[in-house]
Amino acid sequence: MRTPLIAGNWKMNGLSADAMALADAVVERAAGLDGIETVMCPPFVHLPMVGDRLKEGVRLGAQNCADAEQGARTGEIAADMLADLGVSYVILGHSERRQFYGEDDAAIAARYAQALKARLRPILCVGETLEERDAGRTQAVVAEQINGVVDRLESAAGLGGGVIAYEPVWAIGTGRTATAEQAQGVHAFIREILAERQPALADEMRLLYGGSMKPANAADLLAQPDVDGGLIGGASLDAEDFVAICAAA
Ligand code: 13P
Repeated sequence: MRTPLIAGNWKMNGLSADAMALADAVVERAAGLDGIETVMCPPFVHLPMVGDRLKEGVRLGAQNCADAEQGARTGEIAADMLADLGVSYVILGHSERRQFYGEDDAAIAARYAQALKARLRPILCVGETLEERDAGRTQAVVAEQINGVVDRLESAAGLGGGVIAYEPVWAIGTGRTATAEQAQGVHAFIREILAERQPALADEMRLLYGGSMKPANAADLLAQPDVDGGLIGGASLDAEDFVAICAAA
């Protein structure tokens, strides 16, 4: 039985007052939720403040971590610094990191390994662009992105206690969501890859969908057998919408 997970990726939004207000509003509204894990991933600088406001049941996540343990990595944040602040989850390989900051599978695998070492749970993001989907390459791209990380992880635990988020790039911030059938199709395929590469994890690993998930489409997406939760961008900035998505899980 996989516990549903809904994570809010705040991306680069909000000053400290906004972050505090949003965290308080989510915590208050999420109080009655049961049987689901809820995570908030604010920008790095807001982590301590948001962490202080979280109550039992709502966890803290970060939006990236460094590819090395410590030292000469100007501008980066080490995984154990995050763990030290009470962070439980870390988003890795988001398409915005791949697209705007040139993170490739090798870089993402190095970050993933650091996250596991610090006992954080990575949320590994994968997904195809519209061009790749139109060219019939969705499965190839997703397989490449997952294998590109698994191949580089040395430990037998491989992806370990991580989570995979399928985020089709064409659905991110566009208002264009994958249909429930499209999402389920890719999620089932991801579980097949896991069964081949990480058999011990295939059944228990949670697979999230991300890309314009909103209260209006969440129930449909989350009802799919291999969709175990969501990674929410825009709608996570509105406490009411975010908690409505959580309630649909
Ligand atoms: P949107 O929900 O705004 O489409 O963003 C999805 C996303 O990128 C979450 O990581």
